[in-house]
Amino acid sequence: MSAVRKNRKKTGIRAQVMIGFMIFTAVIVCMLWFFQIGLLNTFYKAIKINEIRAVSNQVVEMLENGASMSDYVEITHRTGVSMLVTDPNGTNISMTPNAQGSALERLSRLECRILYLQVQQAGGSVLEDNITEPRGEATYAGSEPLPGILYARTVYLEEGEFLVVLFSTVVPVDAAVQTLKIQLWCLTFGMLFIGLILALFIAWKLSSPLEQINASAKHLAAGNYAIRFPETGNREAAELAGTLNYAAAELSKVEDLRRELIANVSHDLRTPLTMISGYAEVMRDLPGENTPENVQVILEESNRLTGLVNDMLDLSRIQAGVTVLSAEVYNLTEEIRRTLTRYDKLAEYQFVFTCTEDVFVYADRLKISQVVYNLVNNAINYAGADKTVYLRQTTANGTVRVEITDTGAGIPAEQLPYIWERYYKVDKAHRRAQVGTGLGLSIVKNILDLHGGRYGVQSVEGHGSTFWFELPVYPVQAVHPEEMRRE
Ligand code: ADP
Repeated sequence: MSAVRKNRKKTGIRAQVMIGFMIFTAVIVCMLWFFQIGLLNTFYKAIKINEIRAVSNQVVEMLENGASMSDYVEITHRTGVSMLVTDPNGTNISMTPNAQGSALERLSRLECRILYLQVQQAGGSVLEDNITEPRGEATYAGSEPLPGILYARTVYLEEGEFLVVLFSTVVPVDAAVQTLKIQLWCLTFGMLFIGLILALFIAWKLSSPLEQINASAKHLAAGNYAIRFPETGNREAAELAGTLNYAAAELSKVEDLRRELIANVSHDLRTPLTMISGYAEVMRDLPGENTPENVQVILEESNRLTGLVNDMLDLSRIQAGVTVLSAEVYNLTEEIRRTLTRYDKLAEYQFVFTCTEDVFVYADRLKISQVVYNLVNNAINYAGADKTVYLRQTTANGTVRVEITDTGAGIPAEQLPYIWERYYKVDKAHRRAQVGTGLGLSIVKNILDLHGGRYGVQSVEGHGSTFWFELPVYPVQAVHPEEMRRE
């Protein structure tokens, strides 16, 4: 819960999306203002300068080609650029009609001469972009002079050298700016409003499934494993909900298993302990009861207890990854025969072992013996009326397969996938004294997994089961003769 309290200080997804969207909108609006208003004059002037340069190039070309005055009039009229041509001394040679009343007309001979010298000095052309031209008195009496751009360059013709002066007024963009400003204000408010609505919508879309998942997760944290996470909203949230549903289901399985495990273990441990203490008390209190049979019961029960504790330890060691295999090359067939001798005392059971040849494997001898032992024990525990356990060893394609078959009750098909789990018992109510702990097959599975061997079971209810495992055969010619002899 402290995590919840700690995280409460952090900004929520809704607020983050809103802030992000607002910042984004604000940046866009600022950029619009900057380009539309801030840089308008600069852009406009740059365009005008380019234009006047282009006209000058055209004019010079026309002069060189001996074009007529009407041609200049046309171009200057079209572009709004006025033109004046003088000789190097500043004497006016010609002037386009639109230059009348403009800054060009007021240029004195001396000023033209100075301009010529400036052009010479500058290497061919001069540009002045801050010239002011008084507006025609008739039209704009008393108004501010218009700013303009003056561009002068020299041209060499057959008749000699000339100065071409071009002038273009830069109409102030204030009026346009005013219109633009009004438009931009509308746009700014519109964008902020739409941005806000969009941000609210997206934030709601993103956060609401997460909020639902969060609410369910709190129930899960409180131990309610039956809780379901709604798999709605965007793909990621739905996937998260799916994963959490899976986790909740697994947790609930683990919880069931834990309850069952505690019940099993406490039962399994308590039964022999009760027997031991019961018999011991009887033998202490009643001298006549101090018989070898009673001592035998105590011994058997303590052996069972030891077996159970050993199984538990083995399994937890294997599962914790502490167990390392001490693999060696050995005669598996011989080892199976040896394991079966352990059952010599069980006179009422028969063991039928068939094999075609002795097979060597590279494996952990003790652990594989434990596998055989556990499987044979189960076959005995669940053996049929014939009280016979069949063992069959076959080899094919470099693999040895060992099958342990009984003709007992078999296992229902729907239980088959679970029998390898820890503490799993098919018939939970049916517990014979010698029937194990529910750990045997889990140990088998873990040992064979460690060896990378294959294993499985075929079982028909009412007809018996065949448990099998496979290991790679170690080629006989590769076995050292010493080893063969020892076997
Ligand atoms: P247990 O110690 O109870 O035998 P195991 O892990 O060895 O535990 O086996 C798990 C369960 O699988 C057993 O409780 C039993 O129900 C079933 N089982 C195992 N071997 C056989 C068999 N040969 N025939 C029928 N059922 C079996």
